[in-house]
Amino acid sequence: MEMVMTVPTKHTATRAGDPLSIFREQLEIAADRAQRGCGLSDALFVERINAEVTGMMEKLPDELRGAAAEIAYEFGYDDGEEEPYHEPGTCFLTGIAEHCCPCGRHP
Ligand SMILES: [Zn+2]
Repeated sequence: MEMVMTVPTKHTATRAGDPLSIFREQLEIAADRAQRGCGLSDALFVERINAEVTGMMEKLPDELRGAAAEIAYEFGYDDGEEEPYHEPGTCFLTGIAEHCCPCGRHP
């Protein structure tokens, strides 16, 4: 027995080959799938959509990822932008050691 992978039919009618259009279409499917699997749990939905988006992003060229993320936000994607990690004792603005950071926020 051979497993046959079903490949989504190509959307040739609208802007074929536009990676962001394709991204959006895939995202619609992914969001639908994520929603179905998790009932009413927003957190679980975000977790699932994040996983989907991360996988899809990896296939996009770097220059499209920003735009793709914008689209993904519409679908509930949350990249959890938090303050970037900084070493204790370094400035959270500059990343420079506090005792020699020029930003003026350190006593
Ligand atoms: Zn500083």
